[in-house]
Amino acid sequence: MNLPPNALWIDQDDYDVRGFSHGLYIDGRWRPSSDGRVIGVVDPSSGSVIAAVPDATLDDALAAVDAAAKAATAWRETAPRKRSEILRRCFELMVERSETLAMLISLENGKALRDARGEVAYAAEFFRWNAEEAVRITGEFGTAPSGTNRIVVDYEPIGICVLITPWNFPAAMATRKIAPALAAGCTVILKPASETPLTAYALAALYSEAGVPAGVVNVLTTTSPGPLTSAMLADPRVRKLSFTGSTGVGRTLLGEAAKHVVSCSMELGGNAPFVVFDDADLDAALDGAMIAKMRNAGEACTAANRIYVQSGIHDAFADGLRERMAALKVGPGMSADTECGPMITRKAVDKIDRLVKDAVGRGAKVLCGGSIPEEEGFFYPPTVLSQVSPDADMAHEEIFGPVAPITRFETEAEAVMHANNTEYGLAAYIYTRDVARGLRVASRIEAGMIGLNRGLMSDPAAPFGGVKQSGLGREGGQHHGIAEFMEAKYIAVTF
Ligand code: NAP
Repeated sequence: MNLPPNALWIDQDDYDVRGFSHGLYIDGRWRPSSDGRVIGVVDPSSGSVIAAVPDATLDDALAAVDAAAKAATAWRETAPRKRSEILRRCFELMVERSETLAMLISLENGKALRDARGEVAYAAEFFRWNAEEAVRITGEFGTAPSGTNRIVVDYEPIGICVLITPWNFPAAMATRKIAPALAAGCTVILKPASETPLTAYALAALYSEAGVPAGVVNVLTTTSPGPLTSAMLADPRVRKLSFTGSTGVGRTLLGEAAKHVVSCSMELGGNAPFVVFDDADLDAALDGAMIAKMRNAGEACTAANRIYVQSGIHDAFADGLRERMAALKVGPGMSADTECGPMITRKAVDKIDRLVKDAVGRGAKVLCGGSIPEEEGFFYPPTVLSQVSPDADMAHEEIFGPVAPITRFETEAEAVMHANNTEYGLAAYIYTRDVARGLRVASRIEAGMIGLNRGLMSDPAAPFGGVKQSGLGREGGQHHGIAEFMEAKYIAVTF
């Protein structure tokens, strides 16, 4: 691209984010890429380039590994209380800067400001939670069954971690990895998504201000993620890959990591069913569906991707959902009254359009929305479809957009069968007033997380993650998130 190297500008005077981002963040310093190339950052509400960040080379990536290695010993030997206090300061600074961070997220990702504010609050919580966890890492002490010795188990930082994150939650997906890794005593290299690098760099500036030593967190953006990740994984000092993104890329990375037997955590794609039984509280189910479907305009791995509604409540639910979806205000994320922002790219809009056309071709009825508007930016309107065939492509692929496909069902067994008819297993939602049925169905649905009469389940205090093709490992939760960044060391002791 023909843009000045090592530059960031925002051509919208109202949003001054220049103080945050200067370049690749390696060893506590901002620098351009070694060949001076840059990546343009696009505002999805207009399609225009608003900023540029460096496009890291192989040399830059290896410099980041060197920096993480140089900082590793001092960081792992830093007292847990000290690490905890630094993480706590990261939390406080994020809260102080939350409005600016929210604007930055909204600007580069397109999400509505209210969603961006929610993301900053959620992202900051990972620092607070892990500040509290950092001082509660315990080991084990016992007697061998033979009685000949004692068994001591210590938990040590796993080593240098490569963290790769997607564009849909530019702050939260980074802090959900960085905070537990740092709490465990690891040093990291973060590679954020090319579409949303500004938030990651803004956060990097904040970490150093909070007292995170140089080299403990390194951040680089690149248009060559494959070769750079392969090179970093091939370095024997790198011991962990924590990835959040699509299942396809996750599979590729598992293959790369296998070559060097690098530990992997994989937070991958979803295809969440949202099941509404006849006895559900209708208003609560509609409220829950709006959150589960429309948080981030549907661009969430936990988004309700398939909505199954029992016959007795079906028509009232479909009517209510159409009314609520049609009333949403669509517009640029930065506009104060926007409830549904643009999609991340034109490609994402085209995919949604293809999925809607496929469903309609198989007999679905369009209750609202359903076609690409003629305006600049990457917009798709809130859309409700009914009578969606279980064979429709959207029943098997992530829509990742504001489209709510409804399918009618009759029996509980049928609902469970539909819910499990997918290779994914990240999240699922169940609405019923019968708690026994809710728990029974929750235990039969193959998913890592269930919202029972709730449309939102993400919480740093609970383990986040999926089964089947939705991934490996957990983030957050009591010990779960930190455990991904530690190894058990067993010491047999005779005394
Ligand atoms: P993606 O295309 O898989 O990209 C994710 C990240 O991987 C980006 O940083 C991307 O870099 C990088 N990447 C792409 N190819 C790579 C390669 N060969 N080697 C190393 N890195 C590579 O996913 P996305 O479109 O950004 O995000 C949407 C997906 O993420 C959805 O499937 C969603 O369900 C999933 N997701 C899952 C969770 C969860 O917790 N389970 C949370 C959020 C999102 P570039 O941007 O430079 O291509």
